[in-house]
Amino acid sequence: MKIGIDLGGTKTEGILIDDTGKELARNRIKTEKNYDGTISGIISIVKKFETDFGDSESVGIGMPGCVSSDSALVKNANSIWLNGKPFKKDLEKELERRVNLENDANCFALSEAVDGAGKGHPVVFGVIIGTGTGGGISINQKVLAGKNNIAGEWGHVGLPNRSDDEKKYVKRCYCEKNGCMETYVSGPGFASSFNLKHKTDYDSHAILNEFNNNETRAIEALENYVDHLARGLSLVCNILDPDIIVLGGGMSNISFIYEHINTSLKKYIFSDTFNTKVVKNVHGDSGGVRGAAWLS
Ligand SMILES: [Zn+2]
Repeated sequence: MKIGIDLGGTKTEGILIDDTGKELARNRIKTEKNYDGTISGIISIVKKFETDFGDSESVGIGMPGCVSSDSALVKNANSIWLNGKPFKKDLEKELERRVNLENDANCFALSEAVDGAGKGHPVVFGVIIGTGTGGGISINQKVLAGKNNIAGEWGHVGLPNRSDDEKKYVKRCYCEKNGCMETYVSGPGFASSFNLKHKTDYDSHAILNEFNNNETRAIEALENYVDHLARGLSLVCNILDPDIIVLGGGMSNISFIYEHINTSLKKYIFSDTFNTKVVKNVHGDSGGVRGAAWLS
């Protein structure tokens, strides 16, 4: 049995799976917004599972951000009370065992690679397009973290070949660079580009409502959205050439994406043949917590 924990800013979710991936138990608690509280929350989930089901083989934790390869301290986490803390070391001390800690987009990619939409494919690129944008790479069902723990960080590469309009109708990224993929393909990024162009105050759902009512400007926005995704993903394909690309996060539920992205992407690839498919995830919101459990 394996334990996976998905540490979010508001909730911490735990899952216990057997070696075939079958879910045996699940537990969700509120994330305490302080360091000691976050650690004791995780310990309580592990202890509860092990009291009810016996000892587990491994504990994996997925979280936004990562552990710095230089200092072993947490960096880039939006649960900001973890930044700069020796989170992995402290958890290992409390639980008296090794704990696997990984970025949540990497966990998503791993989950889909093991028994999701990427099952049977050696190289899987997982993309989260939700409130934020992230990416993760799984190779032979292992996370490729990279020398600096940033492999797959696709949200903060620039959209290639931006037009004047694309430079004009976009917000500056919180990472302080201009033109990051996140500012175009996250839900808030998509909405904010639309709002800047049309002087509206919509969220992504409101744009999708217009789209469903066949409004021209919303159809155009969705077509551009798919084109942005395709241009961004073409970089990944030209470098990594993955076997499959799996999309997750709220925006991945838009079926229009899958009707057009595969044709669109082909246009931007440096190859006469291109057989990589972009597909929707299988595990939905459970991708992160299941991927955490598969970490080893
Ligand atoms: Zn950025």
